[in-house]
Amino acid sequence: MSDTTVMRPDLDQVYYRSLLKDEQERLVRIDKELADNSRQAKDSMEGFSESDDVPADIAAQASEREKDQQLSHNVQLTLNQIDFAMDRIDDGSYGICEMCGVEIPEERLERIPWVSTCVDCQTMLEEG
Ligand SMILES: [Zn+2]
Repeated sequence: MSDTTVMRPDLDQVYYRSLLKDEQERLVRIDKELADNSRQAKDSMEGFSESDDVPADIAAQASEREKDQQLSHNVQLTLNQIDFAMDRIDDGSYGICEMCGVEIPEERLERIPWVSTCVDCQTMLEEG
């Protein structure tokens, strides 16, 4: 055991860690599928240049690939947040808003276990 001060002793840290772990495993799987898809799509684009009349189904695959890339980007971002949340469990600051320091309500953590800000700060961030 470490002497880390847990700032939210009311939270079941083991439970939240397992939520994070499940989500992490799910996202890693999705990420792998996306990577496989994009490799296949790339193969089928082989031999076509920008100016060529690309067959419609191939073009559709290309736009599909763009969507996949966006999705993959989002998956990566969430994976980073999950890593960060696990660090916060380790150092005892999990469940505390990293911007204003208030306790993040448990129902918010249940819904988005990797969240690191309260609703107010999140809204502020999104509105810029
Ligand atoms: Zn806050």
